[in-house]
Amino acid sequence: MEHTAQRIAKICVEHTTYAFDKAFDYLVTQELSAAARPGCRVLVPFGRGNQKRQGMILSVEPAKAVPETLKPVLQVLDESPLLQKEFLEMVFWLKERYFCTLFEAVHLLLPTGINFKIHTSYALAQPDDLEKESSLTDTQRQIVEYLRRKRESVRAERICSDLSLEKDSKILEQLYRDGILVKTSGAVRHIGDASTKMVRLTGMLPEKKLTPRQSEVYQALEAVGAASVKEVCYFTGVTPAVLNTMVKNGVAEFFEQAVYRNPYASVKAAETAEDVTLSPEQQEAFDYLLSQYRSDKPAVSLLYGVTGSGKTMVFLKLIDEAVKRGEGVIVMVPEISLTPQTIGRFHQRYGKAVAVFHSGLSLAERLDEWKRVKNGEAQIAVGTRSAVFAPFEKLGLIILDEEHEHTYKSEMSPRFHAREAAKFRCAYHRGLLVLASATPSMETAYLAQTGRYGYAALPSRYGSAKLPQVIVADMNEEQLMGNTTSFSSVLLEALRETLASGEQAILLLNRRGYHPFVSCRSCKEVVTCPNCSISLTYHAANHRLLCHYCGYSIPFSDECPSCHQREVRFTGVGTQKAEEQLSELFPEANVLRMDTDSALNRVDYEEKLAAFGRGDYDIIIGTQMVAKGLDFENVTLVGVLSADQSLYSDDFRSSERTFDLLTQVIGRSGRGGKRGRAVIQTFTPENNIIALAAAQDFPGFYKQEIAYRKGMLYPPFADIVTVGFVGDREQAVQRAAARFLEMLSALAGEEYSQLPMRVLPPSPALIAKVSNRYRYRLIIKCRNNRRFREMLSRLLVQTDKDKAFSGVTVFADTAPDIV
Ligand code: ADP
Ligand code: ZN
Repeated sequence: MEHTAQRIAKICVEHTTYAFDKAFDYLVTQELSAAARPGCRVLVPFGRGNQKRQGMILSVEPAKAVPETLKPVLQVLDESPLLQKEFLEMVFWLKERYFCTLFEAVHLLLPTGINFKIHTSYALAQPDDLEKESSLTDTQRQIVEYLRRKRESVRAERICSDLSLEKDSKILEQLYRDGILVKTSGAVRHIGDASTKMVRLTGMLPEKKLTPRQSEVYQALEAVGAASVKEVCYFTGVTPAVLNTMVKNGVAEFFEQAVYRNPYASVKAAETAEDVTLSPEQQEAFDYLLSQYRSDKPAVSLLYGVTGSGKTMVFLKLIDEAVKRGEGVIVMVPEISLTPQTIGRFHQRYGKAVAVFHSGLSLAERLDEWKRVKNGEAQIAVGTRSAVFAPFEKLGLIILDEEHEHTYKSEMSPRFHAREAAKFRCAYHRGLLVLASATPSMETAYLAQTGRYGYAALPSRYGSAKLPQVIVADMNEEQLMGNTTSFSSVLLEALRETLASGEQAILLLNRRGYHPFVSCRSCKEVVTCPNCSISLTYHAANHRLLCHYCGYSIPFSDECPSCHQREVRFTGVGTQKAEEQLSELFPEANVLRMDTDSALNRVDYEEKLAAFGRGDYDIIIGTQMVAKGLDFENVTLVGVLSADQSLYSDDFRSSERTFDLLTQVIGRSGRGGKRGRAVIQTFTPENNIIALAAAQDFPGFYKQEIAYRKGMLYPPFADIVTVGFVGDREQAVQRAAARFLEMLSALAGEEYSQLPMRVLPPSPALIAKVSNRYRYRLIIKCRNNRRFREMLSRLLVQTDKDKAFSGVTVFADTAPDIV
């Protein structure tokens, strides 16, 4: 009998530690031979106890001799591979670059929700609206009538069995996409900010007497019925733990509010796409990018365009080209810009060829969208960071809009940057990567300037829209004249004029400088969170002090916790305080406050913005979130209440960030036909970043900033890598950091002595304690090349085995956002 060659699979396994992580060999038995393909998940026995664990087949090879002891693959979990060849390579790339385990990399590349059993239920979208139903088929009508009788959401399986439909029938999904049904996903677990965890009373009477905190919650819930956990905690000042106890005691229950926005709501069939005629400047940029796209090996290209220059139009033309060629396209935008309008614009032009990727979708929807890309139904993926992994077999174009935004960096392992992942993919497919921004990162601009990246520019606004006139208000003078409010006289005057002519204004507050903290006048002590090293913030809505990191809160009291004098007072002006001043100054104006506390969820946020767009409000006042992406043509005034307190004042990127923020917020003014204005208030009017931002002069800013970076040996002239240490006991964390430095010095002194490197001594992180966990970090200036990463990887492996690191988590970050 002829002997068929045995086969061995290389498999990465979940829950391995970094030190012991690799692709393990497993035997593929005859019986699984056809099913066990690379990219499929499997169950394998692992470790001494042969525990069953999930794994991913990375490759399969024939083997002449198979060791007797080789363990076999037990089961293949997927019918067809989930990961394409490209991603199987990317798994190793992610591990090498970001020091994660192979399975963590796999996890990142799999669609969210693939591990969950998801129950989908449907209900009628508008039970009383019969109009849309006239064009239904008989079966569809049957479903609609059935659901009308039920008057509630019904599980998909139930509908199918009650109506004797095929189990995998696509009819329900079709009705959902047509807007006739709404879908709710009773996912077993929710991930991300989309899940709104709600709480309500069960109606059971409490067995034990409620604690004062519990009864506060009880009364609140009696009054409002149900509310999100976030809101309940906010208004009653309890921690989620109090709610957990009440749920355990049966008094209250959690539930998920899981009706999501329909991502297809705005899809009609692709309309005859509006014909875009590019301006000469846009045409030139487009021609350049097109020539890159058509070349054999396109260069990563920077599209620099001032705000309002029409970058989007250039994107659309490029996408048209990719669609014509039948290649996949990925468009990434920052979370804040991924509005229904943005998505609608793509839907309108490309119809159902668009798949949407972001955390605002339910797990089921995310899985759907992933599948639509995988099976070729969708050709254009629009979304946030995770869209970079849209599983196109043939990828032609990736557009990274606002490429400098820090939300493209993941702060969870693998700590990857979407820009780098996009580079990997474009190199693999020989596709074009376009990095677009009005304020590119220094790293990208430098590579473009030195010719390693391609470069196209849109230096002026589209059409007749002019850049706003910028007025710098010197707050020193205002104070000398006795003005102690947050509003300079020139800003007040401009606001008056704007309101009088029926136009709108956006006012920006810088978060840190303007969140009011409280301090004691007697002992000068600032009131801080007991769990985190950060000052508590006063909130007028509930008259409490709140920690923005862990949610800790206490009622406000003027008694100082340190010296017990009744001398505690506010310092700084928060959005709430500024809003109060504003209402006093302009009692007739409708003011919309936007900060992370008032806009509790995204749907809310979008609704408020839409109301502003309709003219329901005259003024938006808010933190960073109002600075970017808003496009309202009736906004003719932008005010920056203080340009001084840059959020990131200790960071080497602080100038870059300040320039970005000012450029963006100034760019919100005068986007329509009317000329806009911007008033920038500052105590340092001589600072030229304001002038550069006013002129939207990135080239000017670049020239100045790059010289500074060079002098200080900051990126792009060196790379910065940080090593973080986190643990419950500060001493242990400190010791671990010191030990790591010793180990690093030893290696760097000998084997790796040729690596250029400067190590700063370990120090507490910017926020040294969060939720009672202490954080230290080590900053390394280096060349982040293969050899450097090899050294770092060896060090991380050592920490797994060294007693000095027990109880301390160590991680490396090769693209730290804030240093
Ligand atoms: P950016 O993203 O560069 O800030 P947008 O793409 O939002 O700018 O364009 C600014 C405004 O100008 C938008 O309202 C857009 O519709 C309009 N616009 C830009 N280019 C064109 C064009 N070629 N034809 C028609 N309208 C355009
Ligand atoms: Zn805290």
